[in-house]
Amino acid sequence: MRSSQYLLATQKETPADAEVISHQLMLRAGLIRKLASGLYTWLPSGLRVLNKVAGIVREEMDKAGAIEVLMPVVQPADLWQESGRWEEYGPELLRIKDRHQRDFVLGPTHEEVITDLVKREVSSYKQLPINLYQIQTKFRDEVRPRFGVMRGREFTMKDAYSFHLSQECLEKTYQDMYQAYCNIFERIGLEYRPVIADTGSIGGSMSHEFHVLAASGEDDIAFSNASEFAANVEMAEALAPAGERAAPTAEMQLVDTPKAKTINELVEQFNLPVEKTIKTLIVKGSEEAGSELVALLVRGDHELNEIKADKLPEVASPLTFASEEEIRAAIGAGPGSLGPVNLNMPVIADRAVSLCSDFGAGANQDGKHYFNINWERDVALPKVADIRNVQAGDPSPDGRGTLEIKRGIEVGHIFQLGEKYSQAMNCGVLTESGKHQVLTMGCYGIGVSRIVAAAIEQNHDKYGIIWPDAIAPFKVALIPMNMHKSHRIQEAAEALYKQLQQAGIEVLFDDRKERPGVMFADMELMGIPHHIVVGERNLDENQVEYKCRRSGEKQLLDLNKVLSFIQ
Ligand code: ATP
Ligand code: MG
Ligand code: MG
Ligand code: MG
Repeated sequence: MRSSQYLLATQKETPADAEVISHQLMLRAGLIRKLASGLYTWLPSGLRVLNKVAGIVREEMDKAGAIEVLMPVVQPADLWQESGRWEEYGPELLRIKDRHQRDFVLGPTHEEVITDLVKREVSSYKQLPINLYQIQTKFRDEVRPRFGVMRGREFTMKDAYSFHLSQECLEKTYQDMYQAYCNIFERIGLEYRPVIADTGSIGGSMSHEFHVLAASGEDDIAFSNASEFAANVEMAEALAPAGERAAPTAEMQLVDTPKAKTINELVEQFNLPVEKTIKTLIVKGSEEAGSELVALLVRGDHELNEIKADKLPEVASPLTFASEEEIRAAIGAGPGSLGPVNLNMPVIADRAVSLCSDFGAGANQDGKHYFNINWERDVALPKVADIRNVQAGDPSPDGRGTLEIKRGIEVGHIFQLGEKYSQAMNCGVLTESGKHQVLTMGCYGIGVSRIVAAAIEQNHDKYGIIWPDAIAPFKVALIPMNMHKSHRIQEAAEALYKQLQQAGIEVLFDDRKERPGVMFADMELMGIPHHIVVGERNLDENQVEYKCRRSGEKQLLDLNKVLSFIQ
C-alpha cells in the first residue's frame, strides 16, 4: 500500500473527549472516527487490525471444532417473548418496529435466534454435540458508552453456542472453548487472565471471564500469587465516580451461585432486612453522564420503579423519602411520569443506599450486601451470599498464597447455560431410545472490537501504538527520505517495495511528499512493528536502516538481505 493512495488519517492533536490512552491513540493513528455516541466508523488501518483479530479468533474456533454461521442483526420480538427476555432484558435492548408495527430488536446477543435455529435443524441425537459461532455486529444501548470502541453501543462480537445431551458433554466443550480462548489471547500477544465470574443477565451455572490486565479496566480481578485461583471482584469502590476511584480494595463474592427467581426469593434466601415502606435510591451520574441523575424507587412489595430526571437536586448523601409524592415533588416530576421499568436494577436495603448504575454494584448501609445490577427477574442470581471484604495481600480463598488485585478489561466470557433457553423454547432431539430430550447449552463470547482497544492499552509508548506483530495493520513501514528530490532513493525504495510485496509481506510505502520527521512520527504513531528507512548516506554502502518499533533498536542491513531479515 502506498501512503499517497491510502487514507492515513493520522492527527497530531490529542482529542479532548478521549479519556483513555487506547481511545486517544485510535483516533490519532487514524483507526476509528466517531459517528455518534458509541458508534464508530472503522477507518482502513483500524479495519485491517479488526480483521486480523477476527481472523485469529476464526482460526482457533475452527480448530476447536466450532462451525461458522451468520445470523441477522435484526431479530423478531416473538423469539424474545418465547425466552422471557422481552420482559427481562431492560433498557440495553434496543426495540424497533417495522412498517407493519411489528416488534423487533437489534440483537445484543443471539441465544434466542440460535436456539430457534437448532430446534428446527437438529432433530436427532446423532447430530450432537454441535457448536455454532458467528463474528458479527451486536447492538447494546449501553447506559454509558465510553472509551471509544472499548464500550461501544454497536460492536463486533464472536459468539458461539453449543448444544448437548449431557452435562459431561457440555463440560468437555466448555473446556475446549476455554483452551481456544487461551490460544487466541496468547497468539494476539496479550497479558490476560481467566477468572471465575458471575453469570449476569445471560444466566447459567458456571462461567469464566477472560481479562486483559490494564489500569484502565473497569473490573477488578483478584488472583492468588500461588495458585490458579482468580475471580472477578464486585466492588464497593465502584461507588466512587469514574476517574477518582480509590486504590483497589474490594468486596469479593466467595460463595457459589445461589438461585433466586424473584426479589422476594432473594430477600428470603439471604434474610435481608427490607422494610415494607417506600424507599428511594439516588444514583449520582458520572461526569460523562452529564447532569442526568437516576432515582430508583423501591416499594415495600419489592417492585422497582426508575425515574430519570435532568434536574434532580445535588445530593451529598443518599436521600430517603416517605412517599412517592415526596419524590415527585423533589424531582419536579408530574403525576404519571413514574413508569414501571424492567427489574434489571434490583437493590434491596434496609435504609436508603447509593449505588452506581453502571459498575454493577449496590450496597446497603453496613456495606455487607452487594448485588449485581445486571441481575434480572428470571435469571440465576450472581454469587451474592457470604460477601466478605478482601484486600490485596489477604490470604486467598483456596488456602494457597495471598491475593493480588488488578484492573482488568473483560475481553471474553464463557458460560455453561444449562436449559434456560432450550427449555423455554422447547429445543430438543429424539434420543437413541426414541424419547424427546431438551438440550443443554453453553455460550461463548469474545469482544473482537474491544480487543483492539485492549491491545493498545497494553502496547504503547509516548510515540504511539506498538502493535504485536500478529495484529499489526502492516508489518513493515518503508520510509524513503526525500524521495522526491533523489532519483536514486526512489529507485531503491520502489525496488524494495516490489520485493516485499511479492514476498507477501504487508508493507506501507510512505511515498508522500513529506519531511522525514513527519513520516517517522506517523509510522511510529500507527505502531507498525518494522521500519525500513532508505537514505542517501546508507545507499552509498548499499545499505538501509532497520528500526524495531518496540525496542527502538536500529541496525544497518545490506539491501540484498532486507527480505530475509524481515521474513
Ligand atoms: P461488560 O461487563 O463489559 O458490559 P458484558 O459482560 O455485558 O460486558 P458479555 O455479554 O459477556 O458482555 O459479552 C461478551 C463480550 O462482548 C464481553 O466479554 C466483551 O468483551 C464484549 N462486549 C460486551 N459489551 C461490549 C460493548 N459495549 N462494547 C464492546 N465490547 C463489548
Ligand atoms: Mg454489559
Ligand atoms: Mg461483564
Ligand atoms: Mg460478560
